[in-house]
Amino acid sequence: MKITIFGCGYVGLVTGACLADVGHEVICVDVNENTVSALKAGQVPIYEPGLERLILDNLAAGRLNFTTDAPEAVKFGLLQFIAVGTPSDEDGSADLKYVLKVAETIGQHMNEYKIIVDKSTVPVGTAEKVERAVADELEKRGVAFDFDVCSNPEFLKEGAAIEDFSRGSRIIVGTESERVREAMRQCYGPYNRQRDKLMFMGVRSAELTKYAANALLATKISFINEVANLAEHLGAEIEEVRHGIGSDPRIGYSFIYPGCGYGGSCFPKDVRALANTADEIGQPAHIIKAVERVNDRQKNKLFEKLSEAFDGQLAGKTIALWGLAFKPGTDDMREAPSRALMEALWGAGAQVQAFDPEASNECRRLYGERDDLVLAEQREDTLEGAHALVICTEWKAFRTVDFSALSKTLLEPIIVDGRNLFHPDTVKAAGLAYYAIGRGDSV
Ligand code: NAD
Repeated sequence: MKITIFGCGYVGLVTGACLADVGHEVICVDVNENTVSALKAGQVPIYEPGLERLILDNLAAGRLNFTTDAPEAVKFGLLQFIAVGTPSDEDGSADLKYVLKVAETIGQHMNEYKIIVDKSTVPVGTAEKVERAVADELEKRGVAFDFDVCSNPEFLKEGAAIEDFSRGSRIIVGTESERVREAMRQCYGPYNRQRDKLMFMGVRSAELTKYAANALLATKISFINEVANLAEHLGAEIEEVRHGIGSDPRIGYSFIYPGCGYGGSCFPKDVRALANTADEIGQPAHIIKAVERVNDRQKNKLFEKLSEAFDGQLAGKTIALWGLAFKPGTDDMREAPSRALMEALWGAGAQVQAFDPEASNECRRLYGERDDLVLAEQREDTLEGAHALVICTEWKAFRTVDFSALSKTLLEPIIVDGRNLFHPDTVKAAGLAYYAIGRGDSV
């Protein structure tokens, strides 16, 4: 099949590379010239395990191409995927300007039947807006071509995106059209062989499914963080509680890890957008709003714990920080808890010496050169002259630590563990004060 994908970000690139890999002819288009020229030269501007190999192989095979030439890209594919960003607007709603811009572009240049596939996360009713935007452009041109718009939300996780795309639990397609159903069966056929993962439903249901899924996952995180807070004040140990509740199959273990809050490009903005939709239709979403409030509070926890450890005297202190990305396996720092912590530390006059296996460049891009930030090449380099160590991201490489060496290196023997990576007894045995999440902070 010939497929056009608008947007060469995480979703567009993974979709493009995976669809090309199973034999489709794919062209990915982006407005960012630097992104496109890098990709054409085989340089992948984002870090995602396995993605570079997939892109290089399919570029070489001639099945995957990149362009900034939108008119040509529109003419290319029967399927026109929209995979551009939908950031939060000032009021928390999803900003649809990039999505609608692509819809206009398609309307301006299409010369035959097209199927427009909304892969961006968009509020209920967006497919109708896309349809109107395309129809308006066709009308302006005084031409009439048939087209369909369907919803095909994406559920991949950064850090495991290729695996999720190839072996995800479901492929949701919102459409009422048999022609679209047939085309989507053909598009996803190679990824739908083991069992039928394609779920066809109404367009609005598909749009809401994506928000409901993300809001429920975010709810699990805020829920366990809320319980962790209770545990901390009730003398209970949240890791024991987590084991205790997760063993019930109705609850399960996934997404009930206490921590320093969720971040990333999806949960925060999608939770806000769903709450905003609920307000707009006069049906306030109480649980969903609370999920966001709890998370905002949680992202401040590490700073609070550090303040407590240093009796509020953080000015002039140097804090070693392990983990900048919002989660392991990515270089993405959008709304990452590390950012809330660093910004609070700088506000209090402290210095940060940070290490992340993948996100240092992204951190440099976000914050530039500054006197109160050192980005280290190795995790051990952050400890030189540091008063305390904080862990923000649970990269595997952080799980093993020589605590007795650490207690000698740090100027003050303090660890603040935002991901509960260690056993409190092991840390304390080395003479370190251990502050974690929901474990009763203890020295
Ligand atoms: P991103 O910001 O990484 O990439 C978006 C890309 O679109 C950018 O490269 C930008 O230059 C490009 N773009 C903007 N306007 C364009 C236009 N008119 N024509 C062509 N390209 C254009 O975004 P992302 O993380 O890939 O997310 C895309 C969508 O997918 C969002 O709605 C997001 O919520 C959703 N989503 C993201 C993830 C994720 O893990 N990142 C997972 C599921 C769904």
